[in-house]
Amino acid sequence: MIFKWVILIVLGFFVFWLLKPFRQKQKHSADTTSGVAEDMVRCAYCDVHLPESESIVGNGHNFCCVEHRQLYLQSRSRRR
Ligand SMILES: [Zn+2]
Repeated sequence: MIFKWVILIVLGFFVFWLLKPFRQKQKHSADTTSGVAEDMVRCAYCDVHLPESESIVGNGHNFCCVEHRQLYLQSRSRRR
């Protein structure tokens, strides 16, 4: 009878040990979702919102892509 309990306890530890890396992965994915909630910036050319880390900075403005940075700077230089 005691042997049965020992097997159950060992099984319990084994399951816990198996789930441990899975739990750490879940924590990591939670970290990445919190990373999505980072500061959002707006493209100065097309007003699209995007995470600051994905934006392209130029002339103190944020842009969604290199093309929009160039187009924005071109349209600004034309106004002068
Ligand atoms: Zn844009």
